[in-house]
Amino acid sequence: MAVATPLTEKTDEQKAITEMVRQFVDEQILPNAEHYDHEDEFPGPIVDQMKELGLFGVTIPEEYGGMGLDLTTYTMIVEELSRGWISISGVVNTHFIGSYLLMKFGTDEQKERFLPRMATGEIRAAFSLSEPELGSDVQAIKTNAKKGDDGKWEINGQKMWVTNGLMSGLVFLLVKTDLQADPPYKGMTCFITEKEPGASENSGEWAGLTVPPKIKKMGYKGVESTELIYDGYRCPPENVLGGEEAGVGQGFIQMMDALEVGRVNVAARGVGIAQRALELALRYSQERKTFGKPIAQHQAIQFKLADMATQVEAARLLTLRAARLKDAGERSDLEAGMAKLFASEAGRFCVEESFRIHGGYGYSKEYEIERLYRDAPLLLIGEGTSEIQRMVIGKKLLQRHKI
Ligand SMILES: Cc1cc2nc3c(=O)[nH]c(=O)nc-3n(C[C@H](O)[C@H](O)[C@H](O)COP(=O)(O)OP(=O)(O)OC[C@H]3O[C@@H](n4cnc5c(N)ncnc54)[C@H](O)[C@@H]3O)c2cc1C
Repeated sequence: MAVATPLTEKTDEQKAITEMVRQFVDEQILPNAEHYDHEDEFPGPIVDQMKELGLFGVTIPEEYGGMGLDLTTYTMIVEELSRGWISISGVVNTHFIGSYLLMKFGTDEQKERFLPRMATGEIRAAFSLSEPELGSDVQAIKTNAKKGDDGKWEINGQKMWVTNGLMSGLVFLLVKTDLQADPPYKGMTCFITEKEPGASENSGEWAGLTVPPKIKKMGYKGVESTELIYDGYRCPPENVLGGEEAGVGQGFIQMMDALEVGRVNVAARGVGIAQRALELALRYSQERKTFGKPIAQHQAIQFKLADMATQVEAARLLTLRAARLKDAGERSDLEAGMAKLFASEAGRFCVEESFRIHGGYGYSKEYEIERLYRDAPLLLIGEGTSEIQRMVIGKKLLQRHKI
């Protein structure tokens, strides 16, 4: 008799790797996150350990030096990292999207050039669509590239909100290469722009790329978000994602494909932060007493815990389902949108409920929930806001159920 496998069941390999990551989070991230968050400092020593653990190459094939694991396993890892601190998953996430783009669309030469160094974390990748005047409306980008007589593409324009914008060595950059294209998405191309990690002013072959000081943010500290100014930056034709012949004009389609896995990734971050908020609430509510008993013994508090735990579980199931469909090669656009929408809202909900359970102490920087309260809203925005997810879900629903 066939027995269905529960969605949350892990293979032995998944158990081993998530237990390893959980231990790393408990020992290295949770005790140190407060310091890096308060100082808004890049968590260099933690990132170095992540390199040693191979966490920058989780999904990169073994032939390029990575672990060759699937999206489902990666999702489980991201949940664990985000349970520790979503900024740590932020250091990996755009890198994961960049490696996905290379694996799916890159030429053999591009894969050989970049993936081995990406697998070790020697170079990290950023992913850049947004500009000062747009985020949701990607087809409205203004950054553009024009081919010069020497064959190189000259890129001009300003990008915004680039996670890992300073410390990355590669930026997967969406630009317009045909300003007249109608619809505009047909005139967009993805360039792999190389830069010097940590340099605000690039020089030599990478001259023309400036990284202004990092944007000051409410939360999601430690990992930098920056603007990028391309002013006469010259990109060689071999850095058009997929090669010049196949890649020019394909950038929008490539980036939207990558956003689909990016959404599963953000959903996993929502599960992780919701899980942590629940853990903190379970602990605090059994320690804190009011009216002669632990607050966990008041039904109103138990109801909050019940709603939080239910949201965490539902978010996890949606996220794993979207990841598993993608791994099985099936359509997962609708499911990725649902997972992202539900899990990011669950993250915000659980953090707020946990914050309320902490009473006045939740407002103090001495308590971890204060950081989570500032971090959680990012997940409602990145990789498409909740409004945009609903638009994606609605559109896909109508496509699948056309009468
Ligand atoms: C910390 C941080 C890190 C980020 N990292 C990156 C990164 O690495 N790379 C990158 O490219 N971008 C990144 N972003 C940008 C992010 O993807 C955008 O902020 C997001 O897509 C929203 O775009 P916007 O801010 O321009 O808002 P807008 O698009 O201006 O939207 C404003 C509001 O209008 C709503 N809205 C927009 N259009 C519609 C519509 N048609 N119908 C209904 N409502 C609508 C939105 O939901 C939102 O509520 C990051 C942002 C932040 C805050």
